Amino acid sequence: MAEKKESKKTRQLEERLVKEQARCWDGFNSQEKKHVFSYAENYRDFLNQARTERKAVQVLVEGATGNGFRDLSTDLHKVPRLFQVSRGKFLAIAVLGKKPMTDGVRIITSHVDSPRLDLKPNPLYEDSGLAFLKTHYYGGIKKYHWVARSLALCGTVIRSDGSSVYVEIGFLPGEPVLTIPDLLPHLSRKLMDQKASEFIPGENLNLVVGSIPYEDKEARDRVKLAILELLDRKYKIKEEDFIGAELQIVPAEPARDAGLDSSFIAGYGQDDRVCAYTSFTALMETKVPEHSAIAVFYDKEEIGSEGNTSAKSLALEMFLMDLMAKVGIEPTTRNLHLCYFNSKALSADVTAALDPTYSDVYEKRNCAKLGHGINLTKYTGHGGKFMASEANAEYASWVRKLFNDNAIVWQAGDLGKVDEGGGGTVAKYLANSGIEIIDCGPAVLGMHSPLEVSAKDDIWMCHKAFKVFFAS
Ligand code: MN
Ligand code: MN
Repeated sequence: MAEKKESKKTRQLEERLVKEQARCWDGFNSQEKKHVFSYAENYRDFLNQARTERKAVQVLVEGATGNGFRDLSTDLHKVPRLFQVSRGKFLAIAVLGKKPMTDGVRIITSHVDSPRLDLKPNPLYEDSGLAFLKTHYYGGIKKYHWVARSLALCGTVIRSDGSSVYVEIGFLPGEPVLTIPDLLPHLSRKLMDQKASEFIPGENLNLVVGSIPYEDKEARDRVKLAILELLDRKYKIKEEDFIGAELQIVPAEPARDAGLDSSFIAGYGQDDRVCAYTSFTALMETKVPEHSAIAVFYDKEEIGSEGNTSAKSLALEMFLMDLMAKVGIEPTTRNLHLCYFNSKALSADVTAALDPTYSDVYEKRNCAKLGHGINLTKYTGHGGKFMASEANAEYASWVRKLFNDNAIVWQAGDLGKVDEGGGGTVAKYLANSGIEIIDCGPAVLGMHSPLEVSAKDDIWMCHKAFKVFFAS
């Protein structure tokens, strides 16, 4: 009897003091389990449409427009649901709230660019009777992931007359794919002795794209010429148009359900289109919030947020000031700063999920696990918190309470062991403006690989968390 009482006391003490690592699935009833799967289907479709940042912006704008949102730059009416696109690669969407913007807004940022290969400005060449395209990788990749697999070409070309064409080849069944052949094992003895970071040099990431020679035997580089003729016929583009074009090489295979229990989504570009999608759907379902709710979709995060569509640009500032003008608040620097200092934000981005096969690089008491909900990352950066964005204790507490009060399953994890490596997000650029911000998002396996793996329950939990945040 005494023993029973003792164990009850222990359980109560544990319940009160120990942070429980809840699993999302344990909290779902049968109805919600169905939601998890149907939501994941729509997310998977989004991944398969939004293979580039421009396409992601386009798809999100179409979705927003379908939900009654209007372009802030052109709309003359006083609608409370507005968006603004900058240069086709930055998007901000807002639902105006009851309070004035100077009382602060709720911002969720994500990024719609993903690691990939870009075509070089002068990519097309012929060697040994074959035509090739040269690439330059974008973002942090393991180069060996990109050889010996089906790849697609997609992106925007602006011709010299200013007209634009969107090229997309390799996604549809029946369309040809492109590939970077790998060296056969039989001749790889020396290559296999090299370091993994070196055995596929960047200059070897060349796509083989043709072998049919132009029929005139007198012509120079006949295969290259035949490819140029094909591009002219199909897209009205010539060699010079490659210069300045935004042509990207991405995995050709579609995102799919994964796992024997179909509990995962395996697909390219989930960093960070999973947060783009979940914050977007959360905003679409936001009615009239207390504070204006804003979802921001950045470009160029994967290369350090450089350039005029990135988090370091003035794009968000422009949007906020235009929005102020729209609602009758004078868009002065003072009012903008008031808005910044009173605002709360989530920097929504994926984090590394513990992969037990490589457990030695993770610190198992401080890492995110698949299936344990949205992950809060108090600080990013690397060894010694260098270049970190660190959320203030008051704000971390506020977010925790918000999630706890609304039955959001959340966990707290860093990227990996202190001295193992690290990474950053857009959070620090917003923090520099005075906004309270914390990193959060779902954990993924195989981050930055051509086939990232996320868990459907975590994705759904992110959607729920973002909805609660917008309504706060
Ligand atoms: Mn990211
Ligand atoms: Mn990334």
